[in-house]
Amino acid sequence: MDVQTMELQQVRVTELKGKGVGLIAAQTFQPSDVVFAEQAFAAVPFSSIATRTCNSCFRRGWRLIPCHQCNLAWYCNRTCLREARTVHGSECKDLLRMQHVNDTVRLAAQVLKRVARDSVAITDGDLVTIDRLQTHSERLSQDLQAIMKTDLSAFLNFCPKAAENFDGNFIEHVLCVIHEYSLLLHDQSGTNPVGMGLFLLASLLNHSCAPNCYLVFNNGNYEANNTMYHTPARLEVRALFPIKENDELTIFICLFLVFWRRTKDFSQGAFFHRL
Ligand SMILES: [Zn+2]
Ligand SMILES: [Zn+2]
Repeated sequence: MDVQTMELQQVRVTELKGKGVGLIAAQTFQPSDVVFAEQAFAAVPFSSIATRTCNSCFRRGWRLIPCHQCNLAWYCNRTCLREARTVHGSECKDLLRMQHVNDTVRLAAQVLKRVARDSVAITDGDLVTIDRLQTHSERLSQDLQAIMKTDLSAFLNFCPKAAENFDGNFIEHVLCVIHEYSLLLHDQSGTNPVGMGLFLLASLLNHSCAPNCYLVFNNGNYEANNTMYHTPARLEVRALFPIKENDELTIFICLFLVFWRRTKDFSQGAFFHRL
């Protein structure tokens, strides 16, 4: 992967000896400082709790209003419904046609539609792009390979246009990226998983059993979530310990990965390549 050392104000993407790409601190941080914050490149609520999870801000609620076309996406109020118009508008008809599509496939469709919409797969500050995220499909267990195959054919049914617009290898790559990097999104309590999302910059954080950072979703508390500054599907990387400039930023990755839950032999798959 051709990654030069690139800078955001607080972090740098760099090639780490023997580890591949990673993130290092560009300044010092104290415990609980926000090292960086990032909005999801794409995110979906879990379909199993769709009627109780806002499709826009990922708050949980008990009196949500549905999208009147598909009845499959639910919102806190009209503001959240309006905010999701572009993203949901592009999937509403497909959801209506398919009804039962798995969350991975729905997320992959959102990723590809965003790539098509924005022309390039960029994230804030251009530090990393989808096509540059390294995947390890050759190291997947047989179980995961079978899941990938099923997801690919489900995706082609769900989103036949993408099959025409994108190269098959790129679609497979996006599915692999989702399998390897998508993170659990939490609701306003900060602890209940309600969906999954792809965060490109956070995808570069390597795993450590003694990490110096942790992740907080949805601002991590109800109060912040209710302010006008709330940004939907937002992740914060915060310092656990004092961090010095040029220290590598690490997290305990299996706490946050979606597919940790999906297969039993996860650790034998590709996922500890971040070690
Ligand atoms: Zn909402
Ligand atoms: Zn809809």
